[in-house]
Amino acid sequence: MEPTRQEFFGFLLPEKLLFYFLAFLSLGICFWQIRSRIALWLSGKPLGPIREGIKYWLPTREGLGRWANNVGLYVIGQKKVRSSRPRSGAPMHLMLFYGFLTLFIGTTLLAINTYSPFKFHKGLYYLIYEMALDVMGLGFLIACVWAFFRRLAMTRAELGWADYHGDQDEKQWREGRRRPMSGTMNDYAVLGLLFITGFTGYLAEAARMALNPQPFDWSAPVGHALSLALPQLSVEQYKFVWWFHMAWVFAFFMLIPRFRLRHIVMAILVSAGYEKKPWGELKPITMEEVETTGQIGVTLAKDYSRWQLMSMDACMECGRCTEVCPAWNVGKVLNPKLVVQDIRGSMASGVAVAEAVSEEALWACTTCNACVEACPVLIPHVDLIVGARRSLVAEGKLSGTGATMLRQVGSTGSAWGQAAIDREDWMKGLDVPLCRDGVEFEYLMWVGCAGATDPGAIRTTKAVAQLLKRAGVKFACLGKEEACTGDPARRIGEEFLFQEKAMQNVSVFQKYKVKKIVTACPHCMNTFKNEYHQFDGDVEVVHHTQLLSQLVDDGKLAASNPNKGEVTYHDPCYLARVNNESDAPRSLVGDATNLNSEAIDLVQWLQNGPSSGGALAEPEHRGRKTLCCGAGGGRMWMEEEPNQRPGNRRAEELLATGAKTVAVGCPFCRIMLDASIKQVSEEEIRLVDLAEMLQEANAE
Ligand code: SF4
Ligand code: SF4
Repeated sequence: MEPTRQEFFGFLLPEKLLFYFLAFLSLGICFWQIRSRIALWLSGKPLGPIREGIKYWLPTREGLGRWANNVGLYVIGQKKVRSSRPRSGAPMHLMLFYGFLTLFIGTTLLAINTYSPFKFHKGLYYLIYEMALDVMGLGFLIACVWAFFRRLAMTRAELGWADYHGDQDEKQWREGRRRPMSGTMNDYAVLGLLFITGFTGYLAEAARMALNPQPFDWSAPVGHALSLALPQLSVEQYKFVWWFHMAWVFAFFMLIPRFRLRHIVMAILVSAGYEKKPWGELKPITMEEVETTGQIGVTLAKDYSRWQLMSMDACMECGRCTEVCPAWNVGKVLNPKLVVQDIRGSMASGVAVAEAVSEEALWACTTCNACVEACPVLIPHVDLIVGARRSLVAEGKLSGTGATMLRQVGSTGSAWGQAAIDREDWMKGLDVPLCRDGVEFEYLMWVGCAGATDPGAIRTTKAVAQLLKRAGVKFACLGKEEACTGDPARRIGEEFLFQEKAMQNVSVFQKYKVKKIVTACPHCMNTFKNEYHQFDGDVEVVHHTQLLSQLVDDGKLAASNPNKGEVTYHDPCYLARVNNESDAPRSLVGDATNLNSEAIDLVQWLQNGPSSGGALAEPEHRGRKTLCCGAGGGRMWMEEEPNQRPGNRRAEELLATGAKTVAVGCPFCRIMLDASIKQVSEEEIRLVDLAEMLQEANAE
């Protein structure tokens, strides 16, 4: 007898009709609920992929290619979940996802077999089908139980109560300013629904086997084992079990648009149309746009693009973004998961975004992109936050030292208010070539505001200039013709000041026919690389560690050679995470790594995270998973409570490696860590840029 299964075994026509009626009814209720959300998405600005619907959604070659690629990578491949840390529940989610996917594909194949002329549900195919669904379904059930108990057993910190300043967390919570990030009753209800739906599926299968045993029932081992425990059943008893299972399936359909279940559909849609752009690129706003809309930035949720509104409905409330947020982890009110949920809530309520999220939370963001990196459904938190900041700045709601910084950038071209001519002070005695002297150069050496002002950063600037000279690189500086890139202005929300500075700098690049830039500031690098093209400023830009690494490879400079464990290195967010460069800095101290590799995934984290295994004493957070120093997003210039400095937490982690030298590759990080190291340690700790270490190694 050929292995197969008779569909609707023992069911009469009226029973089948009732089944179809209830199935269509539950799906209809599902779509009815989604309809109201679609209306809210459409209230947004027609920007992004939906406006370009032909390209993204219709069956053009480009649209389909993008769709297939994104679905393959982010949905089927679960790239973002695989690359998150096991502590975040990634293995459990992978079991849930692949179990669910297998059951979904299996049900679809069964439907094709039932309602099409193709009858393939038999023989060897049937045996493999039964085995695959049974085994993967069991994984699905185990993952449901795992998720349930994981949630029950979550520690205070994992639930969103940072360990760092626990008492303060609780005080803020009591004042209603801070909420735990997870563990709601809804989560238990959803897990219960998934478990019961899956388990009753096994019961229905076991009941069928108990009623009508077949020699090939072994191919569904879980259902078969359960059937052995059941007594002999009548047809009516079997039907009762089957309908009981279907009641849960229909409930599942009706509840998909609600609770976390929504992400099952939304994550696929949002991932499919994901618009790939560098994380370090913020979209410009134009004067025409301001004249048309009468406002700057985002006041109400409808001021976001339709795509951004839709992407927020994909949030699965996993809390991965909050887990990695440097602001949240030092006790600030910013909770990126709640930012998404509060904006989502304001879509329907019409409450202003700054009110829903709170201004305090919006200003607390360092734009470090750790949340964007962690989010499995590709939600662009930084774009959402900066959009709301733009509106606050336009309304004059930025005050204090942040506002002072903006005035300084506008009046002097320096975020620290340094006069243009003083940008050349560091050059004294170094014979640095200047563009205005008509020298030939391959690289424009971009110094940046910090590199020309801060005493520590000036040491880096000098070291870079001297190393370039030693290696015979033709370079020149702009000196007093250099002005702030506008990065802090853009990220704090003053878009038009950024645009003014960008156009000013681009015109200087054009005047001197600049083709390549080297800079020791990852923030300047990011802005040139990812944002200046918006103003016709297409130049090739490298971080100083990248150029120096090349010079070491070419034998023009010698790498530094510290004793093992003597030095630790802090990856800057805008170099390691936003621009995916962690290997070049390490190569300067003789470490060969592959931290840039996108292949850093679950397996590596299970093996205690990606490790260079070289001379450096590596901190827990490194490479793309680095921990922010707290300077980005304009935070460098904003007031900070001494006990709420992200830099302190980072400094503690770096010093926990036992290293007595902390190496950096960013002037902002250097300034923040300098203050934090002094605050958290009484030991004599040396803080240096990698360029200084290289200079020492190449001293005559
Ligand atoms: S960008 Fe960084 S600071 Fe801002 S919300 Fe995300 S993780 Fe937090
Ligand atoms: S925004 Fe992304 S990372 Fe944060 S809770 Fe939602 S799905 Fe998870």
